[in-house]
Amino acid sequence: MKIKSAEFVISNSDVSKCPETKLPEYAFIGRSNVGKSSLINSLTNRKDLAKTSGRPGKTQLINHFLINQSWYLVDLPGYGYARVSKKEKKTFQKFITNYFEKREQMLCAFVLIDSRHKPQPIDMEFMTWMGEHQIPFCIIFTKADKLKPKALERHIEEYKAEMLETWVEMPQYFVTSSASGFGKEEVLDFIQSINDGFLPQQ
Ligand code: GDP
Repeated sequence: MKIKSAEFVISNSDVSKCPETKLPEYAFIGRSNVGKSSLINSLTNRKDLAKTSGRPGKTQLINHFLINQSWYLVDLPGYGYARVSKKEKKTFQKFITNYFEKREQMLCAFVLIDSRHKPQPIDMEFMTWMGEHQIPFCIIFTKADKLKPKALERHIEEYKAEMLETWVEMPQYFVTSSASGFGKEEVLDFIQSINDGFLPQQ
């Protein structure tokens, strides 16, 4: 897929205020610092479409970007901040679960995982919740350039093995690097293939 246009549309703290269109949308979510903003900028060929938050955990907004006038890329807040209180965590969970439960045009979520890290409970729990609620998602392993090819392969194999302890099959996954652009086309082509089969409800 060629990116012809990418524009910021709106930020929301409430799913009911998200754009009232039937265009397909794709959500990007993951732990803070996983490389989400960098990946969004890399996918859209923009330097600062998605901005890294200077105050982690404070800005909990759903950001809609309109791509090629035909689909939305949705930047969801990063999770897993060590310093937020229990109450804040609960509010955040509700905010995210509301988005996924209510947003019917959300066709696939991309759960970002740092390819250097071992499976973390917070990601595992989140993916389990997605599975239980039948919300389609893929995994994107980020920062692939930070590992040598052999180590990268080994890390992903280990991740898969751990996933397969609870999942019947490994969810579809992509390996990317925002630094080199590796894997970017695969993600965009995957989105295109879903868009091609998507007919908006009347
Ligand atoms: P976010 O908090 O998930 O939005 O993460 P950012 O996109 O701000 O990235 C966090 C840090 O990781 C920044 O210092 C980025 O420069 C770095 N980073 C992100 N993606 C990559 C990547 O693909 N390769 C490398 N080498 N560094 C990356």
